[in-house]
Amino acid sequence: MGIDVSEVLIPESEIKDMVKRVASDINRDYKGQELVVIGVLTGAFVFTADLVRELTVPVTVDFMQVSSYVGENSTGNLIIKKDISTDIEGKHVLLVEDIVDTGRTLSMLREMLMGRNPASIKICTAFDKPDRRVKTLVPEYDGIVIPDKFIVGYGLDYNGLYRELKEVCVVSFTDT
Ligand code: 5GP
Ligand code: MG
Repeated sequence: MGIDVSEVLIPESEIKDMVKRVASDINRDYKGQELVVIGVLTGAFVFTADLVRELTVPVTVDFMQVSSYVGENSTGNLIIKKDISTDIEGKHVLLVEDIVDTGRTLSMLREMLMGRNPASIKICTAFDKPDRRVKTLVPEYDGIVIPDKFIVGYGLDYNGLYRELKEVCVVSFTDT
C-alpha cells in the first residue's frame, strides 16, 4: 500500500494569515503581561516558531513531549516523555499544539499543568478537528478548523515524514 500526499488542503498563504490572526488576538489579550509559551513536541515546533515571532508581548519558550493512550479500564493516561524546565507557578501559560483531535492529550496535559499552580493556562492550536472530539475541549485560540481527514505538513507527520511541507496536505492511501 502506497501513500499519496498531493492533495493540498490548506495553502501556505492561508496558514500565514492564520498565524497573524491568532498572534494578534494573543497580543491583545496578554498586553502588559509576560507569557510562558509551551510548545507540544514534535508536531508544534513549526507553529510555535512562527507564532512567537509574531508576538509583541514578552515571552519565554519551552517544549514538552507527551503521549496519551486509552487503557482498558481508564479514560486515558498521559505519559510525559520530556518535561519543561520552566517553573510555571504564578505564570501565564499558553500551550501551543499542532492539532486537536479527540482532545484527550490536551485535556490531560492541561489538568496536569494546573497542578503546578500557574496564574492561567490557555490553549492555542494551529488546526482543529472538532468532529472527532471525545473530551470537551475548546481551544481559546483556534487556528483553522478542518474536516475529519488525516493531514500532514506544517509540523505534522505520517510515520515521521512530511513535517517540512509548507502547506497542509491530506494523506490518501493507494493500492500501489
Ligand atoms: P488528541 O489527543 O487530540 O486525539 O490527539 C492529538 C494528537 O494526535 C495530535 O497532537 C497529533 O499528534 C495527532 N493527530 C491527530 N490528528 C492528526 C492528523 O490529522 N495528522 C497528524 N499527522 N497527526 C494527527
Ligand atoms: Mg501533537
